[in-house]
Amino acid sequence: MVQNIITGRIIKEKRGLFTCESEKGMIMSRAASRFRNTGIAPVAGDEVLLSDNGDGTGFITEILPRRNYFLRPHIANVDSFLIVITSANPSPDLYVIDKLSCVALNGGAEPVFVVNKNDLSGGDWLAQIYRKCGFKVFQTVANSGQGTEELSNYASGKISVLCGASGVGKSSLINALCPGVAAETGDISDRIGRGKNTTRHTELFPIRGGGYIVDSPGFSLLDISEALNAPPEELAGLFPEFENYIYNCRYRGCTHTKDEGCAVVAASIRGEIPRSRLDSYNALYSELSKHRWSK
Ligand code: GDP
Ligand code: ZN
Repeated sequence: MVQNIITGRIIKEKRGLFTCESEKGMIMSRAASRFRNTGIAPVAGDEVLLSDNGDGTGFITEILPRRNYFLRPHIANVDSFLIVITSANPSPDLYVIDKLSCVALNGGAEPVFVVNKNDLSGGDWLAQIYRKCGFKVFQTVANSGQGTEELSNYASGKISVLCGASGVGKSSLINALCPGVAAETGDISDRIGRGKNTTRHTELFPIRGGGYIVDSPGFSLLDISEALNAPPEELAGLFPEFENYIYNCRYRGCTHTKDEGCAVVAASIRGEIPRSRLDSYNALYSELSKHRWSK
């Protein structure tokens, strides 16, 4: 019998069973055992070749080339990180936010900022920090839908990871962007289990206009520090707003951590680079310097 080979996108991975979206609809697939031996196993987000058994089941035979790969959440082919932040309730931890942005850029995904709870004061201030650095910023009120259409237009056709602290409104945004998905929202105290991320499965939620959003509950500081796998001298390259200045530093190989002759520090003193960004850079630089890097 000639096998019917088709392409599919893995939208869910759970205990060795892969839900693949394809021209033939959803196909529940197992993967060839040789993937286990090669160390490259299929993950959510992967484009794959699979043999279609014709009864809603299939078998993954090939993983098509990936544009990138992240461990937490466990996913491939990410176009963007939607970093959800709020001016209050919870108040923003700019260091964690800036680190997330570096994780995205380091992995070849675009960090964009979603200032949610924009009905609270302080949203414009927060948005301004990131606009000034050249990032895309959306301002939303997830539970009324305000501003979510612009975000939906941006995310359409892409795979986006939704991340941010617990309580910023990630579930509310999923409900606004993904019709038919009922993500559980509520006060943090009502659903303690969710943030613990005890299950390892990753799921892509289809959004209006094509594309997917991946929820990454409980993105803890520890997870992020594992994820930012870069030597300190590459860190400045993950702060795009430094780019116009780094060639004007007095010393070649300037680390931008001391003010002597540093054009980045000078730009921050003039207010051209947000102070909080330089603070995050310094903290990350010393954190990354503690690792020992091998080529
Ligand atoms: P998650 O933990 O990031 O998934 O956050 P949720 O979506 O569960 O939202 C946490 C709480 O904030 C819920 O009580 C939501 O109703 C509320 N919330 C979400 N978005 C907004 C918003 O734009 N404005 C306001 N005032 N509250 C919001
Ligand atoms: Zn410098």
